[in-house]
Amino acid sequence: MKIAVCPGSFDPVTLGHLDIIERASELFDRVVVLVMTNSAKHCAFTVEERIALLKKCVCNPKVEIDTYSGLLINYAKEKGAVAIVKGLRAVSDFDYEFQQALINKSLFPGIETVFLTARSENMFLSSSMVKEVCSLDGDISPFVPKEIVKDIYLRCKGDN
Ligand code: ADP
Repeated sequence: MKIAVCPGSFDPVTLGHLDIIERASELFDRVVVLVMTNSAKHCAFTVEERIALLKKCVCNPKVEIDTYSGLLINYAKEKGAVAIVKGLRAVSDFDYEFQQALINKSLFPGIETVFLTARSENMFLSSSMVKEVCSLDGDISPFVPKEIVKDIYLRCKGDN
């Protein structure tokens, strides 16, 4: 069974993330969406909340949601994953992602990093953009799954 891990902060999950998760599930037998705890990043939602939001909008039986606070590659090894799947939006993502992929490959040569290009309509979409639009009272419904629009408004509206 070929397992892939889709890591990220998902603070909160957007339609861009969901697209990558769904496409990964067509390429692999099982996909683990891994909510990473990154102390350097200030998150609007706790890990538990981010998981709950993901669970509200991911209902693919091939996809599981998990969390990890250690080194991604150690999780991938323990899980028996063959790939880390990342979404690439623009050139700006590339430098960082390429560096991560090279480090992960040297730490664990048994794993591949697979990059899926973002759909053109999601190229500009990020969790931080969603939070910013929401805090300024903009309409976030074109960017996030409808199941979680209300949750995001409750947390981020009027945050500016
Ligand atoms: P961000 O980079 O917005 O903080 P995450 O850390 O949660 O988001 O990203 C998790 C993964 O999802 C990364 O591989 C990232 O490149 C990808 N991703 C994020 N937003 C999009 C998008 N709009 N389209 C495609 N992939 C995306």
